[in-house]
Amino acid sequence: MPVPPAHDAAASVFLSDHLQAVTEALATTQGQSAVLELVLTSAGQALGTVAGAVLLLDAASQSLTPFSAGPDASLWQGGPLEENGPVRDALARRESLFFADQGALLRSYPELEVRAAGTGAVATAVLPMTLDDQLSGALVVNVPAPHPFTEAEIRFLRILAAQCAVALDRAQLHQTLEDRVAARTAELEGERAALDAFVAYKESVGSESDVRILARQAVRVVQAGLQHVSAAYYELEDGWWKARVWSEDVAPEVAAEIQAGVPEDAPDFRDAARSQAAVFADGWNAEANELPSTDAYGAVALLPLTVNGETRSLFAVGTRDARAWNEREKALVRAVVRGLGITLERTEITRQLQARNAELDARTQALEAFAQLTQDLATQSDPYEFVRRAQEVTLSLLSPGYSLYYERDGNQWRNRVQVGDVGHADLQAFIDAGPPVGETPSIDVPWTTREPLYQDDYARGSDTPPEMVQHVQTVASLPVFRHGTVVGVLIAVLFDGRFWTPTDRVTLDTVVRSLGLALERAEQAGELRQRTEQLERSNAELEQFAYIASHDLQAPIRAVTSFAGIINRKYGAQLDERGQLYLRQIIDSGEHMKQLLDDLLTFSRVHTERHAFLPVDANAVFDTVAQRLQADAPAAQVTRAALPTVRADALQLDQLLQNLISNGLKYRREGTVPQVRVSAQPDGPMWRFAVTDNGIGIESQYFGRIFEIFQRLHVRETYEGTGIGLAVCKKIVEQHGGQLWVDSTPGEGSTFYFTLPGVD
Ligand code: ADP
Repeated sequence: MPVPPAHDAAASVFLSDHLQAVTEALATTQGQSAVLELVLTSAGQALGTVAGAVLLLDAASQSLTPFSAGPDASLWQGGPLEENGPVRDALARRESLFFADQGALLRSYPELEVRAAGTGAVATAVLPMTLDDQLSGALVVNVPAPHPFTEAEIRFLRILAAQCAVALDRAQLHQTLEDRVAARTAELEGERAALDAFVAYKESVGSESDVRILARQAVRVVQAGLQHVSAAYYELEDGWWKARVWSEDVAPEVAAEIQAGVPEDAPDFRDAARSQAAVFADGWNAEANELPSTDAYGAVALLPLTVNGETRSLFAVGTRDARAWNEREKALVRAVVRGLGITLERTEITRQLQARNAELDARTQALEAFAQLTQDLATQSDPYEFVRRAQEVTLSLLSPGYSLYYERDGNQWRNRVQVGDVGHADLQAFIDAGPPVGETPSIDVPWTTREPLYQDDYARGSDTPPEMVQHVQTVASLPVFRHGTVVGVLIAVLFDGRFWTPTDRVTLDTVVRSLGLALERAEQAGELRQRTEQLERSNAELEQFAYIASHDLQAPIRAVTSFAGIINRKYGAQLDERGQLYLRQIIDSGEHMKQLLDDLLTFSRVHTERHAFLPVDANAVFDTVAQRLQADAPAAQVTRAALPTVRADALQLDQLLQNLISNGLKYRREGTVPQVRVSAQPDGPMWRFAVTDNGIGIESQYFGRIFEIFQRLHVRETYEGTGIGLAVCKKIVEQHGGQLWVDSTPGEGSTFYFTLPGVD
């Protein structure tokens, strides 16, 4: 330990003042180099002409980095701590070392002889720097003359070393903070640039939906955001990534190469596609990626574009200027590609929606057409026509194929209706022969389960020998219901592979359900037609009978009545009272029978003797009828309002009015003067006539019955009649396209209404 020099009070004060000044100065000094410079200058000023160095220790590598000022810096070079004896020992011992002259130093560290040669250093101080117990380096001070360090100097240097350590740490902290702020600022700037680029991209594409145009815009925006880059848009085609769009700066040979395509498994392309994450390749390997002409690029980025979870395209950016991407560049490229991705996805979804809508429209139209057709065919009696139509509609909605309609026939399935060629002669023969029930799942299953059977992947060999159906891919079999019973199975067989979508199923279900309804309707229509035919037949027979009977029976009846009359006249007096009564009854019945026959004849003639419908003045017809009737009932009042001209058979109109007015007179009330009035009101294209009387009236429960032939509400003793008159009226009115009905209050009177066509 060197002997401290004599205490020099003035030097001591100078040093402590100086220390004070250094401390203050250090408090405001920022940055590592400023701190070191201040420390070393202070040491120089405090100890006279001096050279010094600060050696900073890197704890991890145990090496020293020199920071020196002054000519002797070379003595204290950096390098491994191990090779710098004085510093190593000072740090190891955490103790300051002072060497008053060179001899003292070389004695302790002879290996320094070589290094020290030619340097002016004579006295040396080595002071460890620690902070929070951690060694951070050493302060080394050289004095160019032998110099025993005074106590004040030693203290000064120790404090200076300690202050240096603190100041360096603060500077370090400051630097770290500044670096962080700078990094964050750069990051934010990158993000802003990316956001700007994203916005610029979104604005530039607007509602554009052409993929190429969208990609071209992305290329343009990336180039605007990053100087000196090339960009390209690739699509996957048959295992090759083929560039569809690229920036104008791309050299022709590169363009040719990227256009020709890159194999799907080129490493960076494959990684980007598989991971669905961007690949930023620093130090681009053109050979490995099978794009030798792109060798000039230092860094390339490949960003996958994912639509519906699938990577079908990639966006590539390359730069010749650098071999690595910085964060700002990455963020910008990502942002633009994200914009492109979103747009592509939106475009794809829109496209799919449009396609789906178009498909739905087509289906709806087909279904409507089918529904319309089944309605138009309502009179069609052949149910298989409906089946055929359903099959045609079904096939029109699907890809090529054929359709069969099976019905059960004992133990065999019979193909009743077929649309389309089955595409294989043996298969056709097999179908025509009638596949066995219980061994043909495609028919058996829907028949027994009453549920449709959809086979996306047709189970070849389950129904027929497999070699006949190699061309069949997809099958749907649906049970056809009529009144809740399965009556057949409709089968659609397709030659193309198809996944039966929910829409397909709904469509087929609807077609088959409509078919069932159409069959039911056709059945009902058929029954109705049959009944109508039966009725028409029996009507015709009845009319014929009525005609024959009324016509042919007239002569015998006339004979009966006239002979009865002769007997009465010639032999009446010889008969006793009872005999005369019987005879009168014969005559009466004969008369009635004659009347009946006359009326029947009239009834049958309504049909058989029709005349053209011509304009007829109802007033004139009424007047004739009224005149005729008044002759028998002079007291009665038969009147009319102004009546229209109607399109009618004049004779039948005469008959109609005659029957209705005469009924009005006949069913009169006791003690009243019979009154019948005829009036008419327009009713659309028709005229509605009303024949009103003040007679006995009719109870409402008979309003329907009285129009049926032979239906009477009274016995003949009360009111004479045959029950045919109103039936004749009804027939006449209906023959004119009109209607006849009654409204009445018993005890007050009745009104019979009928409509007849007007003259247009
Ligand atoms: P007919 O008068 O020969 O009995 P119609 O067919 O003309 O036969 O009439 C059928 C029945 O309707 C009559 O028997 C009568 O009971 C009832 N009827 C018809 N017209 C009137 C009327 N104006 N007032 C009351 N009842 C009537």
